[in-house]
Amino acid sequence: MEKIRRIAVLTSGGDSPGMNAAIRAIVRTAGHYGIEAYGIKNGYSGLMNGEFELMNSKSVAEILQRGGTMLYTARSKEFMTDEGFHRALMVLETFKIDGLIVIGGDGSMRGAAKLTDSGVAAIGVPGTIDNDLPYTDSTIGFDTAVNTAVSAIGNLRDTSSSHGMVSIVELMGRNCGDIALFAGIASGGDIILVPNEEYDEMEICRKVIDGKNRGKHHCLIVVAEGASISGNELKKTIVEHTGMECRVTILGHVQRGGSPTATDRIIASRMGQYAVEVLMAGRTGRAVGIAKGELIDMDITEALEVKRGPREDLIKLGKILAE
Ligand code: ATP
Repeated sequence: MEKIRRIAVLTSGGDSPGMNAAIRAIVRTAGHYGIEAYGIKNGYSGLMNGEFELMNSKSVAEILQRGGTMLYTARSKEFMTDEGFHRALMVLETFKIDGLIVIGGDGSMRGAAKLTDSGVAAIGVPGTIDNDLPYTDSTIGFDTAVNTAVSAIGNLRDTSSSHGMVSIVELMGRNCGDIALFAGIASGGDIILVPNEEYDEMEICRKVIDGKNRGKHHCLIVVAEGASISGNELKKTIVEHTGMECRVTILGHVQRGGSPTATDRIIASRMGQYAVEVLMAGRTGRAVGIAKGELIDMDITEALEVKRGPREDLIKLGKILAE
């Protein structure tokens, strides 16, 4: 096994709170073991263009608590072309990089898997607020996004209950309903709509009216962005069928920002350290994650194929608690 002398790290796809904590852990772990660490700016785009910067312990000071990513991020179509991909390989060769750590979501991991197939020692670290990588219990940024949503919903509840209205909050997550499900339960949502489920809009209207008749001052409906009904469609139906006042809030990119929670800082730090140690142990083409509280690494391609069924237990809990 050849000694790892020089590694590089990039962040790619949507940014997520905690990416900085992971970069810091990677750079400082590398320093601890006497390995040079380069930061690559702007994801795969910066990789193709040689936007490399040698980092040290000081370069990653004061970033642990910051949202976003100090290395910036990008989505690059060019990297997906043969020409762009070849250029990325040439740049890695030019800088004599022995191991590349990619922090990002499923698309970024696919890029890392493709690099692995071409002989690059790549490691994927899951950084996305969506929590849509089921091989790991949690992705970096998910906990912060849930907490941001819970805080925003708390503010909405105050005003909506003062006016006795229905509030619909649409949360991010693409085709994964975890942000909506977790934030919905943590906020005492009356109705939570997640992707891959069919909903009877009349039943939702009946629930809204039932709640009002039971003396509820407020009805909170949490809708995942990938749900079969959008917040605005549902509002139209509720207003028509219940006559109640209803407001839709689409939380959007507010959920992407903010200082990472302690939980995200810790998983990001752990995964960052582990990613470097996995490379040092000679394991490449691995996706790093957390399962039942323990750090894990598995083949990236296999990790991307892991599927998770609907979270029946949490969906049921949400319904019981709203009765
Ligand atoms: P998020 O989940 O936050 O959107 P992501 O990593 O899934 O993050 P994508 O836009 O899907 O974001 O992917 C980021 C970049 O990874 C793409 O712009 C592209 O350069 C690269 N990428 C995506 N899919 C592939 C693929 N199949 N092969 C090679 N590279 C890919």
